[in-house]
Amino acid sequence: MKLLRFRQGCRQGGRLLLALTLVGVAAAPATAAAGGGYTQTKYPIVLCHGMAGFDDLFGIYEYFSGIPQALKKDGATVFVTEVPQFNATEARGEALLAQVEEILAITGAQKVNLIGHSHGGLDVRYVASVAPQLVASVTTVGSPHQGAELADFLRSNVKEGGFTEAVLGLFANSLGKLLALLSGANNPQDAIAALGALSSEGAALFNSQHPAGLPDKWCGEGAKVVDGIHYYSWTGERSLTNILDPSDALLGLASIVYDEDNDGLVGQCSAHLGAVIRDDYRLNHLDEVNQAFGLVHLFGPDPKSLFRIHANRLKNEGM
Ligand code: CA
Repeated sequence: MKLLRFRQGCRQGGRLLLALTLVGVAAAPATAAAGGGYTQTKYPIVLCHGMAGFDDLFGIYEYFSGIPQALKKDGATVFVTEVPQFNATEARGEALLAQVEEILAITGAQKVNLIGHSHGGLDVRYVASVAPQLVASVTTVGSPHQGAELADFLRSNVKEGGFTEAVLGLFANSLGKLLALLSGANNPQDAIAALGALSSEGAALFNSQHPAGLPDKWCGEGAKVVDGIHYYSWTGERSLTNILDPSDALLGLASIVYDEDNDGLVGQCSAHLGAVIRDDYRLNHLDEVNQAFGLVHLFGPDPKSLFRIHANRLKNEGM
């Protein structure tokens, strides 16, 4: 198992600090004291990526683009984790749990505030379910809690055990390995398990085992607090937002298979969990993590601000 894949979301003097170094640990309280406290949560904030995600590539290109810095600026202690790029939620969740335990050991904190994007939102629910004593809050952004219609589309059009599935699996597994390699990791990949986890059937099975925070009716809100853990969610509902961003074309294409409003990959109602902060931001699936390079809708919200406001919300609620 590769340890310490997460990195503290800060750069000082242009140098990325590895989380476990004494420098990194010592730096966190200093940053907090200097920042004015707007995002200064009681517990560390842990940012968890989605499918095909990473912490950063080459130590430079971040999945949560500019977000760790925006949070740290006013006092948050932030970690960015990395789990297998394409795999089942349980496999990703176990990898995340190990990193959460390390973060607690490093910081001396009792709990963490988990924020997951896309598949990462299922991973954080898994950790909250199997290790609730370590989690203060769960927040999911653009996560397919009821499955993603694109996964259903692929699952129903790609024969199980067939040639296309093998090619698709090989492609995604190779992409996962490449992304892991570029981010300095070596994670086990299982793209077919990932596809299963994000289908509505896979999501229903996962939900039956880890139900906390789920709405009890379609498109409703879930309980805000379950067993002392606070649950929140938000999502965008646009697929095309910025003509300069090449990823918009892919999201626009993917959105065709959806019956409901969506962000290009996840349906608006499928993203509901706990207290729904908002489900119609003018953001697509990648805008939600400020990709690519901050190319989002000119008149939409700044994704970095949404994370900062949320950190303030967590702070005000004593987390
Ligand atoms: Ca974008």
